[in-house]
Amino acid sequence: MQKAKICESVRVVVRCRPFSKKEEKIACENILEVDAKLGQITLRNPKSSPDDPMKVFTYDAVFDCSSTQREVYDDAVRPLVESVLNGFNGTVFAYGQTGTGKTHTMQGDPMDPDHRGVIPNSFQHVFTQISRTQNQKYLVRSSYLEIYQEEIRDLLRKDNSRKLELKESSDYGVYVKDLSSVVTKNALEIEHVMRLGDQSRSVGFTNMNERSSRSHAIFLITVECSETGPDGEDHIRVGRLNMVDLAGSERQSKTGAKGRRLKEAAKINLSLSALGNVISALVDRKSTHVPYRDSKLTRLLQDSLGGNAKTVMLATVGPSSKSYEETLATLRYASRAKNI
Ligand code: ADP
Ligand code: MG
Repeated sequence: MQKAKICESVRVVVRCRPFSKKEEKIACENILEVDAKLGQITLRNPKSSPDDPMKVFTYDAVFDCSSTQREVYDDAVRPLVESVLNGFNGTVFAYGQTGTGKTHTMQGDPMDPDHRGVIPNSFQHVFTQISRTQNQKYLVRSSYLEIYQEEIRDLLRKDNSRKLELKESSDYGVYVKDLSSVVTKNALEIEHVMRLGDQSRSVGFTNMNERSSRSHAIFLITVECSETGPDGEDHIRVGRLNMVDLAGSERQSKTGAKGRRLKEAAKINLSLSALGNVISALVDRKSTHVPYRDSKLTRLLQDSLGGNAKTVMLATVGPSSKSYEETLATLRYASRAKNI
């Protein structure tokens, strides 16, 4: 009984992106087969003989290369945001190798309604829902932060070189001290907040992709709702939504990183494996200890993982034979979170 409940609170979905132009040019083979009906992905090792068994993975949902941003939002994320509006916490992670579509899935093109990703779609969803209610008052606040090398930075501050600390209090649980929080009244305002943060993310790095492949970006929305009950008293409920574009999951040892780069890589891998351990402890009934304290990422999200909170792990993969090893690693990571 308990187990079923916990499993429901963690959903694991996998999205496969189409071949890129570059992959098409060098004529890569497709090694993935996606069966949306069965929620299955079949992976073929390009080096094995045709008689070798293929690897089959099953998830809560799978999206093939023709899936739209809207489908991903409606099937995988909408119920979670719904529950945030009802006062629960929720977290969406995008996990995968660099170049497989994490940022495309989370952000997409915010200006284009057909290509908007999870984050801008959640803005529309939250404010549309709020505009339909009559007896409740809402306060929506947002923050945007980055974890890079186990250090937390505020993406909404002009001077984002300052490292922020994690604190814990009995009233608020785990929180980031001095993190800015912006009240927004509509989708346009909150989109503006997101753009500000994105701009500040690219500063200090020669290229955006380089930074994003090594840091975790977290967009936080807190929805506070107050309603006067039949008793004449005000009742307040608060839900928190965390949307996380994780650092690239590629094993950095293979990329030939040395010195400072290698140390950095160890820290990236640390928080991704800590996250994997937390989620698998949550879905494993036998486990009594959830190791939240092992990384900044898991500590920060402690109150939004497990308990009454809902989690969606959105893993992204590419179809090409060139990335077989990394794709296999991602599919395994994602199935560990399912604990079948
Ligand atoms: P990541 O953030 O995981 O490094 P990106 O989101 O930047 O990867 O995606 C890499 C490239 O692939 C981008 O040019 C992006 O537009 C494209 N892409 C990713 N996923 C899809 C998809 N589902 N459909 C079309 N293009 C995609
Ligand atoms: Mg990215």
